Amino acid sequence: MKKLGVLKEINSDKIVSLSPIGVEKLKNNFTIRVEKGAGIASGYTDEMYKTSGAEIIETKAELIEKSDFILSFGSLVEEGQNLDNKTFIGFYNVLNNNAVIQPYLNSTTDVYSLDLIPRSTIAQPMDIISSVASISGYQAVLTAAEMSHMVVPMVTSAGGTLRPAKFLILGAGVAGLQAIATAKRLGASVKAFDVRSSTKNEIKSLGAEFIEIEGSVENKDAGGYAIEQSEEYLKLVNERIAKESIEADVIITTAKIPGKKAPTLILKSTVELMKPGTVIIDLAAENGGNCELTKRNEIIDYNGVHIIGLVSLLNRCSNSISYLLSNNFSSFLNYFVSHIENEKDNEILKATKVIDQGRIINQQLLKKENILL
Ligand code: NAD
Repeated sequence: MKKLGVLKEINSDKIVSLSPIGVEKLKNNFTIRVEKGAGIASGYTDEMYKTSGAEIIETKAELIEKSDFILSFGSLVEEGQNLDNKTFIGFYNVLNNNAVIQPYLNSTTDVYSLDLIPRSTIAQPMDIISSVASISGYQAVLTAAEMSHMVVPMVTSAGGTLRPAKFLILGAGVAGLQAIATAKRLGASVKAFDVRSSTKNEIKSLGAEFIEIEGSVENKDAGGYAIEQSEEYLKLVNERIAKESIEADVIITTAKIPGKKAPTLILKSTVELMKPGTVIIDLAAENGGNCELTKRNEIIDYNGVHIIGLVSLLNRCSNSISYLLSNNFSSFLNYFVSHIENEKDNEILKATKVIDQGRIINQQLLKKENILL
């Protein structure tokens, strides 16, 4: 039986990569050990893991030593630990942060990173990118509502009538659509924009207004994703988005292009025209940001406009996101066990394997221009 170790996330991460239900799903293929207290911040006690069949291990070092497979959401191991013959599986965001892979180089270590999972039908149960995007879109709206100095819905009272807050959502993929749906449920008036024409009906079906800016280019071979737009088109977008941004009370930006820097949709000159109290949540912060002023992991106050470049809002709903991640990771691990024999011919395993025996093998990572450091 393969030995799986579940790490407690480091830093202030409240997420856990495997829940007690995940232990149940994996126990036919793995002997499972969990670092003490790994699930407590997402609502899973050590007792719950034990009841599901896992063993609790006191320290990280002991857990790693006793495991062949080591699972975490994003946390890494510290340098100095013997990592020979270990396989690490996580969501390391390797294309945006290549420092994360340093400890694994030059050892006999394998690393699989699920931010590289293909968006295919077979890979759908393992699609962590969608789980993260969906919860981030939802949480971005709640965070913006909390930070805004306005109430979101229309309110009629003895003192008069308050108009609904105006939300502008840029990028209507998984995160953007969830943000639109959440803002509508709170009673906001919502407008949204995306370069992919198929989003028009999706945006409208959620009750939001689609901002039409003609002239975008699409590529059928891009697997449903957006491609880079021309400078002229982006200039047109900047002008139109400037007009909409000045009106908005909250802006949530989610626009990304796989493997590239995120497009700049909100210029500094636009922020200078915005009303004080406007809140911008930039969910593309990790990919360079959609607003020119965004700073990764920082909250900026620019003339009273709040620009939130927090990379992860997930800790605010750690139980929900851990539940989804655990389902994604356990699907991947069970798939791994049944397909590892033919790894060389397997699209999912090939796409997610970043390091093979201490050597970087991912082509995107090897191409320097795709690394955003
Ligand atoms: P993403 O995170 O890469 O991008 C988010 C959004 O930003 C996309 O909708 C994109 O069109 C938009 N965008 C890019 N450049 C822009 C610009 N200049 N201006 C405005 N918007 C811009 O994408 P995502 O949310 O992960 O997924 C996008 C699509 O991929 C989904 O809507 C879906 O159709 C498809 N998808 C497929 C699967 C699957 O097959 N399993 C899973 C998830 C998503």
